Amino acid sequence: MVFNMMKKADVKKSVMYTIDLTKIDGDGAFTCPKCGTLISPDDETDENYQIVETKVKDDELAELILMCNKCRSTIKLVGFLSQPIE
Ligand SMILES: [Zn+2]
Repeated sequence: MVFNMMKKADVKKSVMYTIDLTKIDGDGAFTCPKCGTLISPDDETDENYQIVETKVKDDELAELILMCNKCRSTIKLVGFLSQPIE
């Protein structure tokens, strides 16, 4: 079997920003790391961003990938799952 070394390079081509929701105060709104557009979970107009992909783990939202409609940056949201406290 020959491993395709090009695969990783393809993924790296587009910049993806990661936002950790556990480090955001308030209602989960944040600004685009590139252009500063406010991205709010309460915004249902699709004007500022659109949802590209959602990843669910154990019936809970684990990851959300958005695209900023202004600068076309891809933004990955993590931190939906609360860490178990023991
Ligand atoms: Zn942006």
